[in-house]
Amino acid sequence: MQQYSGKSIFKGIAIGKIYFYSKGEQQVKRHKIEDAAGEITRYNNAKEQAINELTKLYEKALKEVGEGNAEIFNVHIMMLEDEDYNDSVNNIVENQSMNAEYAVARTADNFYEMFSNMEDEYFKARAFDIKDISERVISILNGASTGSDIGNEPVIIVANDLAPSETVQMDKDKLLAFVTELGSSNSHTAILARTMNIPALIGVKIEESWNGKMAIVDGYTGTFYIDPEEEMLNEYKAKKEEEENSRKLLQDLKGKENVTLSGQKINIYANIGNVTDLAAVLQNDASGIGLFRSEFLYLESDHLPTEEEQFQVYKQVAETMAGKKVIIRTLDIGADKQVDYLNLGKEDNPAMGYRAIRICLNEPEIFKTQLRAILRASAFGNISIMFPMIISVNEVLQIKKIVAEVKAELDTVGIEYGEVELGIMIETPAAAIISDLLAKEVDFFSIGTNDLTQYTLAIDRQNAKLDPIYDAHHEAVLRLIQMVVDNAHKEGIWAGICGELGADLSLTKRFLEMGLDELSVSPTFVLPVRKEVRETK
Ligand code: PEP
Ligand code: MG
Repeated sequence: MQQYSGKSIFKGIAIGKIYFYSKGEQQVKRHKIEDAAGEITRYNNAKEQAINELTKLYEKALKEVGEGNAEIFNVHIMMLEDEDYNDSVNNIVENQSMNAEYAVARTADNFYEMFSNMEDEYFKARAFDIKDISERVISILNGASTGSDIGNEPVIIVANDLAPSETVQMDKDKLLAFVTELGSSNSHTAILARTMNIPALIGVKIEESWNGKMAIVDGYTGTFYIDPEEEMLNEYKAKKEEEENSRKLLQDLKGKENVTLSGQKINIYANIGNVTDLAAVLQNDASGIGLFRSEFLYLESDHLPTEEEQFQVYKQVAETMAGKKVIIRTLDIGADKQVDYLNLGKEDNPAMGYRAIRICLNEPEIFKTQLRAILRASAFGNISIMFPMIISVNEVLQIKKIVAEVKAELDTVGIEYGEVELGIMIETPAAAIISDLLAKEVDFFSIGTNDLTQYTLAIDRQNAKLDPIYDAHHEAVLRLIQMVVDNAHKEGIWAGICGELGADLSLTKRFLEMGLDELSVSPTFVLPVRKEVRETK
C-alpha cells in the first residue's frame, strides 16, 4: 500500500479504481512511415471511434442539457466526415509519407487558419471545433484518454489539474472523487467538487502508473491510499457507511425552519452551476437559489449560448423552483473561467483583468442577449438578477439603463416578464467600502467572499502555494462583511453571503450576530448549516 497526503477540499470518503485523466492537448510526434495504406486504415479506425464517442456524448447531452446544446456534437460528427478534411489527412499520409497523428495535426492547423480568417462569425467559431475534433482523433491514435469521457465505471479521477470546463463535462454519476496535483481550495473546480458532493484532494504528487489501481480517498484527513490492504479497505467501508448514516440523519431536518433557539431567522439558499444541480437543491431542501453561476452555460458550450438556449435553461430552473427565489448571476467569465470562442486573449493578471461585468458592459450585445433570456424566463417563476465584480456606482447605473432598454424592447414586442429584483455581488473591497452608496441603487447584496478575500488580502485564490495564508477568517474580511450588512440594512435592503465562507459552520453564529439575512451554500451544505442555525442560541 502507498499513502500520500494532500489538502482536502471536500470531506467525505471514496473507495474505487483510479482513472488517470490527461489533458486534451496531445503531443504530436512527426515521423516517416512506409505503409501508407496501413496508416490510413489506422486513421479511419480512430475516426470511427471518435464518431462513436461523439454519438454517445450527443445522447448524454440531449438528456442533460437539451437538444439545442447537444447539437454541437452532431456538428462535430459532420466535420469528421467532411470530404475536404479527410482528403487532406489522406494526402499528407500518402504523398508525404507522414504518420497519421502528424497528418491530422497539420490538417487541423490549416483548417483552423482558414476558418479563423473567415468574415462570417459562425465559420470563425468553427475553427475551434476543428481543433477539438482533431485532438480527439489524435488522442485516440496516441492511445490516450480523450476529452472528459471517463468511461462507464465510477472512478476516482487523478489529474495534474482540472479546468472548470473539463470538470463540468464529466459524467457526475461516474465521479467518486478528484485527486489533483495542482489547484487551490477556492478554485472553481474545487467549488464544483463541493456542489457535486464528492471528496476531493489537491496537492498530491500524482503518477500515471496508478491508473486502474484500487484506492481510498479520505477527505477528512486529506489522505490518499493506493492498493489498500484488506483490513484498511473494510475499515473505510464501515466509515463510509457511517457517513451515509449521518447524512440520512440530516434528512430529518428537511422541512424544518432555519431559526435559532432565540427565534432569529435566516434564509439558507443553494448555489448551482447548471440545471443538473437542481436535484441536489430539492433533495437538500434549500429555500431558494442564491447564486446560479450562469457562466457554466457558456463554459459547457462551444459557442455563445443563444437567447433561446439560455431562456430554456433559466425557465427550467424557475419552473422547478416553483415560486422560490432564483438569483441568476450574469456572465462571470474571465480569470480561471475561459472559453475559446470569446477570444479573450492572454492577460498578465487575469483575476484583475477583463472579466465579468467589465466584458458585459463593453460588449452590450452579449449582455443584452442574456438579460433578455433571463427576463423572459422571469415570467415563469421568481427570478432575481445579480451582477458580478462591481466596483462603482457608475457601473450599476449603466447596468440599470441597459436592463431598462431590454425591458422596453420586450414591451414593444409584447413579451411578458416578471417583477425582477436587481442585486449586486459585493466581492471587491471597493464595493464593500462604498456599499452605503451602492445600497441606494439596488435591491440586495450578495457577498462573494471567495473574491472578496482574494482582493482584500491580495492573494490569488488560484495559487496553491498561497492556500495556507488564504484566510477568509481574516479580520479585514469579516469587518468588510459587517460593514456591508450594516449599510444594506440602513437602506432597507437585504444582504447575504454566496461565497464558500457562507458554509463555514465555525462562523454561522458570527454571521447571525452580524445580521446576515441569507447564506447561499453548495446544496450539500444546506442541511448542515440549518442544523448549526437551529442549535445556535
Ligand atoms: C465569490 O467570489 O465569492 C463568488 C461567489 O463568486 P465565484 O466564486 O463564482 O467567483
Ligand atoms: Mg466571484
